[in-house]
Amino acid sequence: MKLENNVYKIQDTTVKELAEKFGTPLYVYDAEVIKEHLDRFRQGFNSVDLKVKYACKALTNMSVMKYLLKQGTGLDTVSLSEIQMGLTVGYQPSDIVFTPNCVDFSEIEEAVELGVKINIENLSNLEKFGKKYGGAVPLCIRLNPQIAAQSNTDKVDWWHKQSKFGISLDQIETVKALESKYDMHIDGIHIHSSSVIMSPEIFINGAKAVFDIAMQFEKLDFIDFGGGIKVDVGDGNEVIDVVELGKQLDVEFTAFCEKYGRRLQLWFEPGRFLVGNAGSLITTCVVRKRNGGSEFVGVDSGFNQLIRPMMYGAYHEIVNASNPNGAKEKYTVVGNICEIDNFAVDRMLPETKEGDLIVLKSAGAYGYSMASNYNSRFRPVEVFVVDGQAHLVRKRDNYEDLVRNQILIDV
Ligand SMILES: *Cc1c(COP(=O)(O)O)cnc(C)c1O
Repeated sequence: MKLENNVYKIQDTTVKELAEKFGTPLYVYDAEVIKEHLDRFRQGFNSVDLKVKYACKALTNMSVMKYLLKQGTGLDTVSLSEIQMGLTVGYQPSDIVFTPNCVDFSEIEEAVELGVKINIENLSNLEKFGKKYGGAVPLCIRLNPQIAAQSNTDKVDWWHKQSKFGISLDQIETVKALESKYDMHIDGIHIHSSSVIMSPEIFINGAKAVFDIAMQFEKLDFIDFGGGIKVDVGDGNEVIDVVELGKQLDVEFTAFCEKYGRRLQLWFEPGRFLVGNAGSLITTCVVRKRNGGSEFVGVDSGFNQLIRPMMYGAYHEIVNASNPNGAKEKYTVVGNICEIDNFAVDRMLPETKEGDLIVLKSAGAYGYSMASNYNSRFRPVEVFVVDGQAHLVRKRDNYEDLVRNQILIDV
């Protein structure tokens, strides 16, 4: 979204036009911004064979997934339904990687049937996989990123703390034992890094630790560094310079491949980096009130439609598209859910009145995809702006959608 002559626009369409045509609340995604981020992500890499797999749980709209396919990405999926959507929009099975966490082995069997790349993240499923497929189906193993944290004690946090993910390093001997017991073909190593990595140097140190592990596996075709790359959301916090990261990793990975004796592929699975800043949630201020000394801006949305501020304390830049240059005042922007539902507390915004269009920026990733019908409200419409055209890519829910699976019994 850009501000031109005091008008907020997505490409050539104004926020006002979108709101009038599609109603609010509405999610809008800008294809150009997705493309810019993808180009930037690829920019630093010159020598390595880079494969970008879009982590579609961030934004699972099939038109967006198809757009990214057109831009040459693969797909990172975490459920069978995501795989199905990927296949429906035209991704080749071989370009889809399935990286579920804590799933029944039957899901992995189904994914193998569909022909996608399998990523295994626990010893139990690894053993089942070996028993069932032996070396017939190559697989990737997901390692617990805490291994990397240990080598940087001052930043214990830096790679990921959610230790339920992946196989921990102290189990690597077991992995190797299973590999030889079942004659498995481990062709990839996966580490899903985290948004707390702020500098290319720290990332590179972690990558080197991964290269050391990779040397212990002889049949690798790729190393997958996952996602978790943060995007600048305008809160003043530092984000990693992806172009610089690409440049440094390009050199290090090339050196590693020489040592390994083969040219491996380098995979990344960005989600939010590609789509986060491409999306906005357009809402209408429906209530203005003062309570307990605070000025409230109540909008026609809530945490059922954008949960990140309430769930993670995430920052979203907010603009008043109806009064971009008004005198700034301090507001608490709230939604309509019947419990605490803050989008922003004590935020300086241009003077706001009922009817103004209030836009939450950087809402492309984990916005709609985490939305629910809580409070029995309809999820918003989704609009995708491509080549200057605003397309409706998902209708608003209706009452039938809400009650579709309910069975009203005689009581
Ligand atoms: C969620 C996830 C991603 C994407 O994470 P972002 O923070 O959106 O980049 C990538 N890979 C895996 C395995 C994931 O679970």
